Amino acid sequence: MSRIARLAAALATLALAACTAVSPGDERAVATHFESLRDRPPELVMFLRRMPKGGDLHNHLSGAIYAESLIRWAAEDGLCLIVVSNTFVPPPCDPGAGKPPVAEHARSSSAYNALIDALSTRNYTQGSRSGHDQFFATFGRFGAATEKRAGDMLAEVATRAAGQNIAYLELMLSPRTWEARPLGARIGWDGNAADTLAKLREAGLADSVPRASQDIDAAEARLRAVLGCGATPQPPACAVTIRYIAQISRTLPAAEVFAQTALAFELVRREKRIVGLNFVQPEDDRTALADYSAQMRMIRDLSALMPEVPVSLHAGELWLGLVPPEALRFHIREAVEVAGARRIGHGVAIAFEDGAEQLLAEMARRNVLVEINLTSNDVILDVRGAQHPLPLYQRHGVPVALSTDDEGVSRIDLSNEYRRAVETYRLSYGEIKAMVRNSLTYSFLTGESLWRDPREARPIAACAGDPPGTVAPSAPCAAFLAASEKAALQWRLETDFAAFERSVVAAPRR
Ligand SMILES: [Zn+2]
Repeated sequence: MSRIARLAAALATLALAACTAVSPGDERAVATHFESLRDRPPELVMFLRRMPKGGDLHNHLSGAIYAESLIRWAAEDGLCLIVVSNTFVPPPCDPGAGKPPVAEHARSSSAYNALIDALSTRNYTQGSRSGHDQFFATFGRFGAATEKRAGDMLAEVATRAAGQNIAYLELMLSPRTWEARPLGARIGWDGNAADTLAKLREAGLADSVPRASQDIDAAEARLRAVLGCGATPQPPACAVTIRYIAQISRTLPAAEVFAQTALAFELVRREKRIVGLNFVQPEDDRTALADYSAQMRMIRDLSALMPEVPVSLHAGELWLGLVPPEALRFHIREAVEVAGARRIGHGVAIAFEDGAEQLLAEMARRNVLVEINLTSNDVILDVRGAQHPLPLYQRHGVPVALSTDDEGVSRIDLSNEYRRAVETYRLSYGEIKAMVRNSLTYSFLTGESLWRDPREARPIAACAGDPPGTVAPSAPCAAFLAASEKAALQWRLETDFAAFERSVVAAPRR
């Protein structure tokens, strides 16, 4: 049976299992129950952990790993620790010179605990160093432990996702993008995208694509081995759908940023598991600020040469004081209007943008989704509570979804971000369900959306009729779902919601 046919059969089975059916009345009953949980925080946590959560659209793979795993891998792989800077480095170690093996150093509980703090924002209180600096410093410290562990990292995040009913992950990583750096440095950048792209291709830019594919093959094979995906029944983590976003380092010299961006476009076009690209590293970095507009034009020009490559951009991950006011006035607008970003990561500084009202209306009209990272913004930017623009985006009809950013470094999970959003902004069940749906609707999965109108959750004609997920799909609907990865996962989400709501309604009240 082909993969598509298996998928269609699985969908039909899932839908039939739900045939005894949720009704709109169930959703209303769940919404009423949800209100009663506001002054019962532990029960709210239980509810939100179980609730289907669709996808996590803003998740840096290496930042998603908890320090405990990083220390274990560093020890197993024979890495050393530069004690004075808490940095993992390859062997040889030299205990006499402050560079013992990680395994030896982390043997004492106090050293182990101190290392967890150094590799994360745990126990971090703003002192001589800001949360921003502590956060970004951790990546340089633990990087060596991640180099040979891509598959183990996938297994960790997939397991955590499955444990919270997350069906889909769009993970940011750097698929061989470092190989574009020396090419870019050699070829240079004169502002002409077509000429420079031609020279980069001539120099072998696309040779990195098959190597990136092999890396993903190896990582996914390791994921399946670690999780035991061959077993029956299969562990739930094996059913989490994973796609990748190619990261470009925005703090590099322009020629290297262009070459990396060009490679990211090639990767998305040729490797179907890589579904989009994003610019990463601190947006407030000196080079990132100086080159911001030029970088947005690079994306625009490459998009003209290689259309239909989905772009999401960290934009407006800034605040007054971190950078001068002038730098707050245009980043989100240029990401949307110049680079053509379909999604924005963070968007915290929207209120400081020139013409913010008009920009919000434009984002709503163009369906540009904002990936909201509440804990990350609290720790890195010191922006929380009423200062955060999540409600502003909602009031203007800009689609939003909650995401984790770096759940390992921040020591959170996606369920926590839902709890935080519900408690801080008094979100209703309907509002968080809309966010969950958005996390698949605005994903970069291929295929048409199940929703004709995502705001109203109105299905396309082929799947109109009974609420999606509550009955077996009709023949035209099944054909549509089999042809669209996105719609298939959306249907599965509706099926999961129906089962979840039915179980909430059926549970005894205490
Ligand atoms: Zn991020």
